[in-house]
Amino acid sequence: MTLASIRQAPKAVLHDHLDGGLRPATVLELAEECGYDQLPADNAEALAHWFREAADSGSLERYLETFAHTVAVMQTAEGLRRVARECALDLAADGVVYAEVRFAPEQHLERDLTLDEVVEHTLEGFREGERLAAEAGTPIRVTCLLTAMRHAARSREIAELTVRFRDRGVGGFDIAGAEAGYPPSRHLDAFEYMRANCAQFTIHAGEAFGLPSIHEALAFCGCDRLGHGVRITDDIFDNDSAEPRLGLVANYVRDKRIPLELCPSSNVQTGAVPALDKHPFDLLARLRFRVTVNTDNRLMSDTDMSREMLKLVETFGYGWSDLERFTINAMKSAFIPFPDRLRIIDEVIKPGYAVLIG
Ligand SMILES: [Zn+2]
Repeated sequence: MTLASIRQAPKAVLHDHLDGGLRPATVLELAEECGYDQLPADNAEALAHWFREAADSGSLERYLETFAHTVAVMQTAEGLRRVARECALDLAADGVVYAEVRFAPEQHLERDLTLDEVVEHTLEGFREGERLAAEAGTPIRVTCLLTAMRHAARSREIAELTVRFRDRGVGGFDIAGAEAGYPPSRHLDAFEYMRANCAQFTIHAGEAFGLPSIHEALAFCGCDRLGHGVRITDDIFDNDSAEPRLGLVANYVRDKRIPLELCPSSNVQTGAVPALDKHPFDLLARLRFRVTVNTDNRLMSDTDMSREMLKLVETFGYGWSDLERFTINAMKSAFIPFPDRLRIIDEVIKPGYAVLIG
């Protein structure tokens, strides 16, 4: 198994941030076009290095600061469309066949676009990217998720925006941002609105903050998936024994098949786990939680889906059938209609892995 062979495998990503996946050269070009002069470097290589360094700091707050620069160049119709188009193309070139890409529309209002316009231009970019990827022989389907910032007060508005656009390429809702001090229950009315409208959502929980955040996201907010959720291990005991013991919350997550959007490199960079070989991914996979592999922020982590999978293969010794299982886990958990999920599993993922498994 090599990076090249993993690239050939059909992959599905559920947790990828639009503003965390720009090409360094695009950041520079868009900054030039829109007159943004705060970038910490003036060539693509140095800029890529800067993002990686800042993200490696081990602090979620510092990690989140890097987004000021990407968000700054995504304030115009053309900026949003280009970033979304390139995102779809880059994922497709990596062998991703299904992607859910999220971003926070409220952070793109600095140049007089409305929330609806921000979403429209971004969706247009994804559609362009899908068309170009199909022409290049690497078809991909991209679903957009709308994120509200947990420290802000617009979550209800963003939930309404999500529902308004649900037949036009928006699949669900999310909250993100620094977790400490901003529990998910602060945004209860947004989640209640989503549930009242039979609409799905995920919540960033159990990354910087522990079990109480996960418990709130599930029990009070009723989320369909957990963004990261790595700290569910705080509710799993005797990890080294043949039969680890699960507490109430961990049992609930496993029994209800709540998908965990795990992001190996990002989880190490933000300090959610100390090192990749200490990542609970393998423990959770062995305990048959519904684990999925994700990129989080491809620019900041200097990664993509194939590299995340290769790291897991090298660290935990996985084979093709494991990667297939994680991919099907993700596809089962996608925020698109059930028949669409089945079709991608049966017609794209299974045949793709059958060739690789041989
Ligand atoms: Zn995230």
